[in-house]
Amino acid sequence: MEGCIFCRIAAKEVQSKIAYEDEEVVAFHDINPQAPVHVLIVPRKHIPTLNDAGEEDQALLGKMMLVAQKLAKELGVADSGYRLVLNTNRGAGQSIFHIHLHLLGGRLFHWPPG
Ligand code: 5GP
Ligand code: ZN
Repeated sequence: MEGCIFCRIAAKEVQSKIAYEDEEVVAFHDINPQAPVHVLIVPRKHIPTLNDAGEEDQALLGKMMLVAQKLAKELGVADSGYRLVLNTNRGAGQSIFHIHLHLLGGRLFHWPPG
């Protein structure tokens, strides 16, 4: 989608530190990391929020989880622990309206989240 920063990153029109990519998904390091490991797993398809995903996106959403698992292993946080976050709409902290799964690891996380 024109003007969407994550579409532009996926298309490599905007530079990022890419951690993984395939034909459906791209993952890159967050520009403002909230933990030693902070990667965003993003579908190439522009879906604004999780509310906009449909049955046809089931496999894609599942793939995002498996990419997160693979990256957690590669980045050395699979055993120590990691958190996956998918903020939906402004009240939950979503600021970029192209869905993305945050993979956070490398430090202790508290519950409940802030
Ligand atoms: P949200 O608040 O929507 O859940 O998360 C958006 C995330 O995208 C934030 O953690 C923010 O730091 C990150 N972000 C925003 N713009 C860019 C960018 O241009 N490059 C990268 N690598 N991360 C970005
Ligand atoms: Zn987009």
